[in-house]
Amino acid sequence: MIPVMRPWFGPEEEAAVGEVIASGWVAQGPRVAEFERAFAQSVQAGHGVAASSCTTALHLALVLAGVGPGDEVVVPSLSFIATANVVRYTGATPVFADIDPSTGNLTAKTVDAARTPRTRAVIVVHQAGVPADVEEIRAAHPGLTLVEDAACAAGSIYRDRPVGAGSAVSAWSFHPRKLLTTGEGGMLTTDDPEWTARARRLREHGMSVSAAERHATGSTAPEEYTEVGFNYRMTDLQAAVGLVQLRRLPELIARRRALAARYQELLAGIPGLTTVRDPEYGRSNFQSFWIALPGDFPMDRNRLLGFLAERGVSARRGIMAAHMEPAYADVPAAELPATEWLTGNSLILPLFHAMTEAEQDQVVEAVHAAAGA
Ligand SMILES: *Cc1c(COP(=O)(O)O)cnc(C)c1O
Repeated sequence: MIPVMRPWFGPEEEAAVGEVIASGWVAQGPRVAEFERAFAQSVQAGHGVAASSCTTALHLALVLAGVGPGDEVVVPSLSFIATANVVRYTGATPVFADIDPSTGNLTAKTVDAARTPRTRAVIVVHQAGVPADVEEIRAAHPGLTLVEDAACAAGSIYRDRPVGAGSAVSAWSFHPRKLLTTGEGGMLTTDDPEWTARARRLREHGMSVSAAERHATGSTAPEEYTEVGFNYRMTDLQAAVGLVQLRRLPELIARRRALAARYQELLAGIPGLTTVRDPEYGRSNFQSFWIALPGDFPMDRNRLLGFLAERGVSARRGIMAAHMEPAYADVPAAELPATEWLTGNSLILPLFHAMTEAEQDQVVEAVHAAAGA
């Protein structure tokens, strides 16, 4: 079976983990600090705050933005469920907005349709690694905090700079389904030094002095708990892997872009089939390669997933839509035609660093066989 995704590791990650174990300090410590600096620099952000996942980093971002009960936060329904869930964690209400079906992302116009006087913030997702047009949204909605869900977008380019550059606050994922992985893990990036300091305290129980700092300085002064925080820490074991993975990222993206271009070329002959592609203002890292089926395709999406599986290809349904899930049945219905079309008619094809052209040909042949069925 050709998998939909497989992380790319080498002996360097094993060695890095071994060094951390030998050091005797495995929890959040010097490697996490080093990974934060290196990652923030790679996305041209002022500061990085590592977290246990993108979900927890997004939760922290909303707390920093002052989101709480009574507020509304505009989110795309077309996203992994965590994008909506984090709004609920704060006691605020998610309001679902539609997307541009060519990018899978929010636009200034779709945000406008979901906005009310109670809207406090927007979570803009760079879905599947395709950069969202954040400048357009920011210009049209100057009063709202833009929280960027960049879970999928490490290394994507927006208007000639990395996604995350110039962002008020962005959250990143290092889950293996994304590109750079630490097993589980996340990061918050921002240019704001006060938000950085508060995020560092909040992820560590609201502690005024971190355990690592106390260890490094030998401080004996008792710590203070300034507000109710969380345990959202990353470990040094994870950060050591992340530092190696970060160095692999340019090569990883170059390979994914080459494979994505090859998919686009080899699938171009199927009438009406659309594929994910770069927007005119940026470059995707192709975290996921999705295709969307035309109305007259010989089989529907779910049938095609089975057809591919029978031919040794493990594909996945396209990006989910949170408003269609039981957990969000209580959110007032909104008109989300592009979201419903894309989630119902798209699927994600295998794409991973070590994928061979022969494997890719097998996937392409299976899709062509379905188109001709
Ligand atoms: C994967 C993903 C998340 C959650 O990331 P975790 O690190 O697993 O918490 C959030 N948002 C989007 C858009 C994602 O794809």
